[in-house]
Amino acid sequence: MKRGELGASLNLEIELIPDGRPNRPGVPITIKKITVHNTSNTGRGADAASHSNWVRNTGYYEINGKRNYVSWHYTVDDHRVIKQLPISEMGWHAGRRGNSLSIGIEICMHQGIDQETAFDRASRLIAVLLYDLNLAIEDVVTHKYWTGKNCPVLLLQGQKWEEFKNKIRSYLEGMIQDSEDPADQDV
Ligand SMILES: [Zn+2]
Repeated sequence: MKRGELGASLNLEIELIPDGRPNRPGVPITIKKITVHNTSNTGRGADAASHSNWVRNTGYYEINGKRNYVSWHYTVDDHRVIKQLPISEMGWHAGRRGNSLSIGIEICMHQGIDQETAFDRASRLIAVLLYDLNLAIEDVVTHKYWTGKNCPVLLLQGQKWEEFKNKIRSYLEGMIQDSEDPADQDV
């Protein structure tokens, strides 16, 4: 599949965290990795739209009376991808190093979601990002890689992470192949 087709298949919506919100620090990042998360929110209705509302309007957890702000770049469910931050800006999702070196992707896991469709959509998004940013499959990492947290909880089970990366690899290789097809070249 070509880059344009794959991009169009994502059903991407843009709902950025407003400038000036505490969880949008506006700090530039150097993108070396893509960090994958699961929301760990199994509640009914905890889909991409609901997480997008939360991260734009609240965006913090209160622990012992202290606000812990969080943010990430994309939220994915079985119907859509919602972009929450420009990829050039830092989000707060993966610890100090992970935040300053990676794009954060949250994959929903609520009751009633078609989970495989959500993972497939996320793998297409990640393939497009790798392609656009000239990164490699080895640059896709888990939240656990940065901080040890058990996240993405569903993809850390059994062979799931390897299967997920294989899916990304096949979309990425498909785009590279199609872009090199001589029939595509304007002469
Ligand atoms: Zn996480």
